[in-house]
Amino acid sequence: MVTALYPGSFDPVTVGHVDVAVRAAALFEKVVIGIYSTPSKNLLFDADTRVELFQKSVEHLPNVEVRKFEGLVVRFARELGAAVIVRGLRSGSDFEFEFDMAFMNRRLEPTVDMVSFMASQDYMFVSSSLLKEVARLGGDITGMVPAHVAKAVYAKFGKPVSDN
Ligand code: ADP
Repeated sequence: MVTALYPGSFDPVTVGHVDVAVRAAALFEKVVIGIYSTPSKNLLFDADTRVELFQKSVEHLPNVEVRKFEGLVVRFARELGAAVIVRGLRSGSDFEFEFDMAFMNRRLEPTVDMVSFMASQDYMFVSSSLLKEVARLGGDITGMVPAHVAKAVYAKFGKPVSDN
């Protein structure tokens, strides 16, 4: 049985993240979504809220579990007995970053391998940081995040301003 760990800040979870989780769940017996408790980023949502928002997005997938963690991703993977770390790739710049990260992780923990999923074409423009910026400026993020996530984001920034 292969367990895969899909780590990220998921601040908040987007349709692109859910797409990767669904595809990983079809390939691996078990998928653990690992939510970084304290990434080096400015966060909109605390770790428990990020866990809840992701859990609600994958409640239809019985082999997916959502957990928060601290510290090194490879250490958490080892704790879980995960053989694979899953990431998503949208662009060349994602690739550069993931490439460096994969080499570093392999050096730290040679028994865990990295598998990257190419973003689906419809979601390759979707990013948590950009959609937060759009929502903050009063733009509409419908379709970029699950409906319950859009509601949580609008609760922070207010409803989008209509252009009509
Ligand atoms: P980070 O782990 O750098 O904080 P995120 O939490 O935003 O980044 O994303 C977690 C993982 O999901 C990363 O591998 C990222 O490249 C990937 N990802 C983000 N958005 C998408 C998308 N729209 N489609 C596919 N993969 C994505």
